[in-house]
Formats: sequence, structure tokens, C-alpha cells
Amino acid sequence: MAFLNKIATTTLRQLTTRRYVTVSHVTPTGPSFGITEDQKQIQELARKFVREEIIPVAAHYDKTGEFPWDILKKAFPLGLMNGQIPADIGGMGIDSYTDCLLNEELGYGCTGIMTALEGSTLAQMPIIIAGNQEQKKKYLGRLLEEPLVAAYAVTEPGAGSDVNGLRMKAERKGDEYILNGQKMWITNGGIADWYFVLARTNPDPKAPASKAFTGFIVERETPGLTPGCKERNMGQRASDTRGITFEDVRVPKENILIGEGAGFKIAMGVFDKTRPLVAAGAVGLAQRCLDEALKYSLERIAFGVPIAHHQAVQFMLADMAIGVETSRLAYRLSAWEVDQGRHNTYYASIAKCHAADMVNKIASDAVQIFGGNGFNTEYPVEKLMRDAKIYQIYEGTTQIQRLIVSRNMIDEAKKSSK
Ligand SMILES: Cc1cc2nc3c(=O)[nH]c(=O)nc-3n(C[C@H](O)[C@H](O)[C@H](O)COP(=O)(O)OP(=O)(O)OC[C@H]3O[C@@H](n4cnc5c(N)ncnc54)[C@H](O)[C@@H]3O)c2cc1C
Repeated sequence: MAFLNKIATTTLRQLTTRRYVTVSHVTPTGPSFGITEDQKQIQELARKFVREEIIPVAAHYDKTGEFPWDILKKAFPLGLMNGQIPADIGGMGIDSYTDCLLNEELGYGCTGIMTALEGSTLAQMPIIIAGNQEQKKKYLGRLLEEPLVAAYAVTEPGAGSDVNGLRMKAERKGDEYILNGQKMWITNGGIADWYFVLARTNPDPKAPASKAFTGFIVERETPGLTPGCKERNMGQRASDTRGITFEDVRVPKENILIGEGAGFKIAMGVFDKTRPLVAAGAVGLAQRCLDEALKYSLERIAFGVPIAHHQAVQFMLADMAIGVETSRLAYRLSAWEVDQGRHNTYYASIAKCHAADMVNKIASDAVQIFGGNGFNTEYPVEKLMRDAKIYQIYEGTTQIQRLIVSRNMIDEAKKSSK
């Protein structure tokens, strides 16, 4: 393939056939965030792809809101999608740490296109952590055959943060469940090949969330499933976000994950693995803001000197660098923790919350450093600022992350005081 020759001779899949996984960055005393040779090559492969294939077209996709299928078709054979699908069903099975490194690179290019390439991971994760071998082979296997995407459908028009408030119903009829209700703000909502859907199977409103919901895998072509129009969002416009209506959608009982009532834990459990990835994407975007602002500050002259010579500008740049570096450490720690097989909810929420807040401050400061030019679409930073905002909202708002962090601390404190 001519394209492959142009971009790289080594694909991520070839790199991942060698064993470089987590043990390579573990020391006996704790985490070490050194990067192995293979991980460096993955970064280089992604960086080249971003430079040659994403940055030149990012403004186009932002303007048109088209879904970047052309880019997916190029990224897919290089292994720049679906990294965590397990090796025993033919995937690359890369660890969270390595997948985060990849996401940071893609996020540097365009977080809208990155979400188009990587958003499917959120839908894959319930099957990776809770699917049986048949479900894995059928649904994850399909994503390895051609550039397809999946969607994670939990949020509804009336409930996002408060997952216990979901109203979609699933009623058992013989060997099937009948799903009725509405989902909202679903990434890949209109283009997914299949969906992970959370629905209420216990009609008792007093049933605890941990027993009331069930996770289903739903095929796109199932009659009664109708995606709405693509939403016109503030940023990350290459990504496809939609509402979806379910009217008497029949799902075979084989498509339940684990069993009736297990859905809430599965749907929430995936965030331990996906929040580090989201944080890494935000770090890529923040680094891009810093690079653009630093370059501009050395070129733009005010009061006879480059603006980088003014201390107020220098301090903004320093604060941006502090935000990038601390957010990077936070996502790496949260990914490293989960790769050790440990419960990382606390670290994943810290990483996601910190990176989201930092990237918003950093993007706003980048616009400030560009002055009037920063407010204009001819310059890169206004798009970056629009793209940044969603990091404080999706995969749990920054308020919800703080709730998780504080609950964890309080629970630990109570345990140790007993
Ligand atoms: C572009 C985009 C893509 C998305 N992709 C997906 C997807 O693929 N799948 C999916 O299922 N969902 C997706 N979402 C939904 C997203 O996860 C929710 O929007 C988010 O969880 C917030 O829910 P909400 O919009 O209902 O806001 P609400 O829950 O109504 O919150 C409104 C405000 O109140 C605050 N708040 C709520 N409860 C509390 C509390 N207890 N304490 C303090 N503050 C609180 C929130 O932090 C927020 O500031 C996406 C959303 C967007 C915009």
C-alpha cells in the first residue's frame, strides 16, 4: 500500500508483537515513567501520522463537521485504533500506559479526530472487562476486520451525572429483551456498528443502582433503533455526537454482559481504564497550546521586543508548562496503577479532573498570548480553546471527579480510624 510506505514501514501491530508491556516501567520501589524503545517507536509512528495526516486537515473537519472516515481508513492498518482489544482474539492487547502515550500524540494533532479514532475504546471496554469469549470474538473481532467504530450509550436527556436516574427500560420477553427509551450525547451515535447500552431491568424505583441496570450489546441494524441528527457542538466537531431513540428494540438474551443487574458496575468500572486515556488526550491538546503560544511569543514584537521577553508573558508560559507536566504525570500514574491490576479509581479521577481543568486554563492563556489574533479562526488557538471545554464535561464532569476523589479519601480515613 503506497500510503504505508509513505508514513511508516513499521505498524503499531508489529511493535506490539514484541513484549514491552508494563513490567518494563516498574521498579521494585514504585512507578517509573521511563519509556521503552518500542513505546518510543509507537510515539514516533503516531507523531508522524499526526504531522502528515491529521494537522493538515484538522481545520477542515472542524469547519465542516464531517466524520473523518478518510483518516480512520489510514490509521486502521497502522494499528492506531483499537489498541486494547485483547491479543487472544487477535487484537494488540496493549496496556493502558502505552495506549495513553498514543492518545497524547493523537490529541496533539486534533482532539476531535482523536475522539473519532479512539472514542470507540469506551464502548469496547465493557466487553473487554465483562464480556464472555463469544461476545468478545463477535463484537471486538468485528472491529479488527475493518475500520468500524462502536458507541457507549449511557447518558439520557434527563440524566447524565446521575446515572441512577436513567429511564430506559428493558423488559424480558422469552429469550429477548425489549428496549424502550432515549439516549443522548452519544459519541459515534450515528455511525457505530454496535452499541453498549445501559437500561433499567428492575422497574422498582427503590432498587439499588448496583442491581437495577443491565448492560446490553445492541446491533446498529436492529429495527426500532434510530439515531438523531448530528449535534452541532462547540468543539471536537469531527466527532459524531447524537441522541438515539429506542422503540421496541429486541435484543437477544445472549447479548447481556455478565447477567441481569450487573450493568451499573460494568458501566462505571470502565472509567478506571478510559479516564487515563481522556486525560492523556487533554495533555496532548495542552502541549499543542503551549507549543503554539511559545512559538508566537518569540515572533510577535511589542514595545520593541518579542513578547516572550515580557515577564507577564513568561509567567503565563511557565504556568502552562507546569500544567502540562503535572497533568502528564497524573495520567501516567493512573494508567500505571491500573496496569498493575490495582483499583485506580482515585488516581483516574485525579488525572481526568486535573488535566481537564489545566487544558482549559492553558488553552485560554494561549489565546491570551496570541492577543486579537487568538480570537480569530485564521490562527490555531481558538479551535484549541473550543476543543478543550468538553474535557470538563464528558466521562464525568469535573464536579463528579471531585466527588469521587473526596469520597475515596473519606472512606479511607473512616477505615483507618476503625
Ligand atoms: C460531546 C459529548 C460527548 C459525549 N459522549 C458520551 C458518550 O459517548 N456516551 C455517554 O453515555 N455519554 C456521553 N456524553 C454525556 C456526558 O457524559 C454527560 O454530558 C456528562 O456526564 C454530564 O451529564 P449531563 O450533561 O446530564 O449534566 P448534569 O448531570 O445535568 O450536570 C449539570 C451540572 O451539574 C453538576 N452536577 C450534577 N450533579 C452534581 C453533584 N452531585 N454534585 C455537584 N455537581 C453536580 C455537573 O457537574 C454539571 O456541572 C457526552 C457528552 C458530550 C457533550
